[in-house]
Amino acid sequence: MVDLHIHSSHSIDSKSKIKDIVTVAKMKGLKYIGITDHYETRKGKLLYGFDFDRFFEDVEKNYDPEIELLKGIEWGWDCTTEIPDFDGFDYVSLSIHRRDTPKDLVEKCYEEYYQRMKECVERADFDVLAHFDFIRRLVPDNPPIPVHMRDLIVDILKVIKERDATVEVNTKSFAMYGEPHPEYWIIEKMSKMNIPVTIGSDAHNLENVGRDVQKALKLIKSAGYSEIVVFKNRRKSFLKI
Ligand SMILES: [Zn+2]
Ligand SMILES: [Zn+2]
Repeated sequence: MVDLHIHSSHSIDSKSKIKDIVTVAKMKGLKYIGITDHYETRKGKLLYGFDFDRFFEDVEKNYDPEIELLKGIEWGWDCTTEIPDFDGFDYVSLSIHRRDTPKDLVEKCYEEYYQRMKECVERADFDVLAHFDFIRRLVPDNPPIPVHMRDLIVDILKVIKERDATVEVNTKSFAMYGEPHPEYWIIEKMSKMNIPVTIGSDAHNLENVGRDVQKALKLIKSAGYSEIVVFKNRRKSFLKI
């Protein structure tokens, strides 16, 4: 139905042409897709990005009456750079990818990660927070968030709520360790707090476009949601699920 996190050849780590993403997405029965290429800013500078005008042109020439194709961007931020100008995008997906602590010090990694996330969600110009517990991908055995850190997670959710932002349920981690980003208790908590959600596969190749979206939908419904978000010109609209 919806996949708002797809990487195209405008990302440094994907070769998928937008034209082919559209073809595959239609074959898989998706109705809304968003291309979110990497624009990674870290330690005060742009680590890697892409040419926005070329991207817009590429998306626009692949508009198709059978599917809604959205211009997203995956903005990797660590609160150390100026906030870029995202004029022209349908939505900005904020990602925190940075880890400084050695990966074996798992609890310290998590503390560092969520402290940074709290500051980023307070300050960033964004529409949707991507892969909430991405840090799980970066440590051995991908353990869940320690129970004693749950208050900090709830504080982050409160900021997201205040800022009227959306949280992505990212399906890539199903194949890695059997759970979505974020872990289920967070999705349930978000539902109770009325925080809107959307879905993204984080596909870096054509095969993974739309992967496990149905599984995520089922889970979102079981957490109490009855609608999910899509974006146009940085405004939300809600689809019944
Ligand atoms: Zn990411
Ligand atoms: Zn991504």
